[in-house]
Amino acid sequence: MHNKAWKEQVAQRLTSASAFARFLGIDDINDTGIGKAEKQFPMAVTPYYASLIQKPFEKDPIFLQCMPSAYELIEAPWLTNDPLGELSCSPTQKLVHRYPDRALLLVCSECATYCRHCTRKRISGETLPPISEAELAKAIDYLNAHPEIDDLLISGGDPLLLTDEALSSILDAVSKVPSIKVIRIATRVLATLPMRITDELVSLLSKYKPIFVNTQFNHPRELTQEALSAAAMLIDAGIPVANQFVLLKGVNDTAECVEELCRTLYHNRIRPYYMFQCDLVRGVEHFRTPLSTGISIMDHLRGRLSGMAIPNFCIDIPGLSGKIELLPNYIIEEKPTETILRDNRGRVTSYPAPTPISKS
Ligand code: SF4
Repeated sequence: MHNKAWKEQVAQRLTSASAFARFLGIDDINDTGIGKAEKQFPMAVTPYYASLIQKPFEKDPIFLQCMPSAYELIEAPWLTNDPLGELSCSPTQKLVHRYPDRALLLVCSECATYCRHCTRKRISGETLPPISEAELAKAIDYLNAHPEIDDLLISGGDPLLLTDEALSSILDAVSKVPSIKVIRIATRVLATLPMRITDELVSLLSKYKPIFVNTQFNHPRELTQEALSAAAMLIDAGIPVANQFVLLKGVNDTAECVEELCRTLYHNRIRPYYMFQCDLVRGVEHFRTPLSTGISIMDHLRGRLSGMAIPNFCIDIPGLSGKIELLPNYIIEEKPTETILRDNRGRVTSYPAPTPISKS
């Protein structure tokens, strides 16, 4: 793949619901709710991602992730524009420091396709310029002054929407911070614009090892040959790829769907890393699932997939010191002499307590 292919895809994006509908051959989308939703939350879809959509559209997992919906206008008191409280943890304009040893650098606001469920809607799709030299310098000063930060996540928007040259300047600057030992890039281009993974980009990223790519495939239908080949290019170059997906009602909230997603990722050397509960961001109320859905999916996966293929099911809400992992409860009863356990098929067994040993 060469640079021209991905730039053409970006230039030819469908940037309104009506253009998207015409592309799909839908006659009439005279829905004022859709019009309001796309004004409130910008839309863009690459022709590649749109080409994955199948009929019936209203049930298609790709369509649901990128077509504005009147349901996005549902308001609830728990929904905010900044559900992870990132603004209050931003020591400089483009840096978020929420965890002691990790920081997040927000380098741009553009994405190949705007996900209707995006957590960072306060940034993605806004017409903000990419990080400036002065903003980058301030972030670097902060990182140099905080050597406890050894892991930097580069996100946005989607950092891989930047040109190779712009990305290279950022990576050069952050990799000169002596305390940064790991760089992670959060990108969704593997799912929505796989032609962005060019030989040039792979060789650029390879210079900065150890570098990890965290991506977001939410449904097995996104795992096309193009997407898997793009991931293979990164992995073959020694850049590990991990998947963090969001549990979305009507898109991927069944055990069978998640099992197929994780199994296919695993077969293709992409580590299923996180299954996230949908964040409490405005515009996503219709995508949210009860916590019990995720927990029962985890119960289903356990015993059917290798532990290597099972993601952590996590929720990230303000007020906690970070993500918390949600697990099915396998302990039925704890007694002084034994613990009664169950497996995911309902079989019950006992694990004896260790024999007390007196050290006299
Ligand atoms: S690619 Fe990521 S940042 Fe961009 S809209 Fe989708 S979830 Fe949000």
